[in-house]
Amino acid sequence: MWMQFKDRLNVMTMIPNHAEEALFGAIEAGGTKFVCAVGSRPSDIRIKEQPTENRKEFNTADGPEIVFANVVKWFREMEKKLGRNISAIGIASFGPVDLNESNALSYGCITSTPKLSWRGANLLEPLRSEFGHALPIGLDTDVNGAALGEFTWGAAKGIEDFVYVTIGTGLGAGAMSRGRLLHGLVHPEMGHMLLPRIPGDPFPGSCTKHGACWEGLCSGTAIQSRAGKPAQDLESDDSAWIFTTRYIGYALANLICVLSPRRIIIGGSVRKAGKLGQDRFFERIRDEVQAALAGYVVSDSLAGGIRDYIVPAALGDDAGVCGAFELARMKLSGLAG
Ligand code: ZN
Repeated sequence: MWMQFKDRLNVMTMIPNHAEEALFGAIEAGGTKFVCAVGSRPSDIRIKEQPTENRKEFNTADGPEIVFANVVKWFREMEKKLGRNISAIGIASFGPVDLNESNALSYGCITSTPKLSWRGANLLEPLRSEFGHALPIGLDTDVNGAALGEFTWGAAKGIEDFVYVTIGTGLGAGAMSRGRLLHGLVHPEMGHMLLPRIPGDPFPGSCTKHGACWEGLCSGTAIQSRAGKPAQDLESDDSAWIFTTRYIGYALANLICVLSPRRIIIGGSVRKAGKLGQDRFFERIRDEVQAALAGYVVSDSLAGGIRDYIVPAALGDDAGVCGAFELARMKLSGLAG
């Protein structure tokens, strides 16, 4: 069970010593790489923009067996180096992933991913067989994990209702409502929401399931497919930016109508926006959101305050792995299930 924000704060202030001193293993299991870390907070893994030796990346193309063997080996090496044992592990994983603990056989398994070698992969067993079944392992989606990282240390600190969107190779979003990460039937799949098409847009979309869903229109993969080169190489006047930012505007307007978030945070590599640049990318998105909403939702955050409403991830590329620290901490404290 996810706790209310104020309950979490109480528990965090009641048992800080136990939780603060613990050493955690963190895994941001992304579709293209695993970002792993050992520590308990952002400053353990990055100092002045530079990663420390407590942070390491592994390529998922090697398949689950090799990746987990390398991760476990590295965790053990770090334990030796730091002279302390890992007390809990947090995993913020790509998906779809089964998060329902009552599903004894499939809990912690990747389900319908197009990455064939990862389909059915069990994320928990390789860790349990090395560290024992008693080791607490907190698990959530990569985007919920990143949302939790931003909530604990970043751009959503103190904000109980917000959405975190990542736009990289894929596109997904996690959300918190009243201090709880959103879960339900399975987990939200906001990246696959369907959007109205911009008249005259010939691009069919890149999602293998839906074609022109949000991910199929705006992910890094989609931008590359539309423009013939990756987002970071696109000129600032490439029409791909016009289409991409307008579709993002549609999607964020939908999320504002459905969830009424108090802030929207955007992470992932596409936000850097190549030659367009991050600042102009965000300016366009803010303009497109205002145009899509057409003044119907009335709040200063959507008018004069929109620069503080749609913002970049404060933890940058570390939001997910930092969130995994927090997933581990919450599991150890009995706060997460
Ligand atoms: Zn889709």
